[in-house]
Amino acid sequence: MKKTQNTTPEPLPADLYNIIACPVDKADLKYTKDKTGLQCVKCKYVYPIKEGIPILLPPELQEQS
Ligand SMILES: [Zn+2]
Repeated sequence: MKKTQNTTPEPLPADLYNIIACPVDKADLKYTKDKTGLQCVKCKYVYPIKEGIPILLPPELQEQS
């Protein structure tokens, strides 16, 4: 099952990944290690990716649902 290629399947299209930013501080978001979420490089908050859609809600809004 191990593959040594660089093209690991990514949950988001590159176009989208490149433009999205943290809604709190507008910093870049990067994939978490398991690529199930996006982590802000500045505030370190992790935004989940659900069914290919990044949930970019500030922490206080995510806790309400
Ligand atoms: Zn942030």
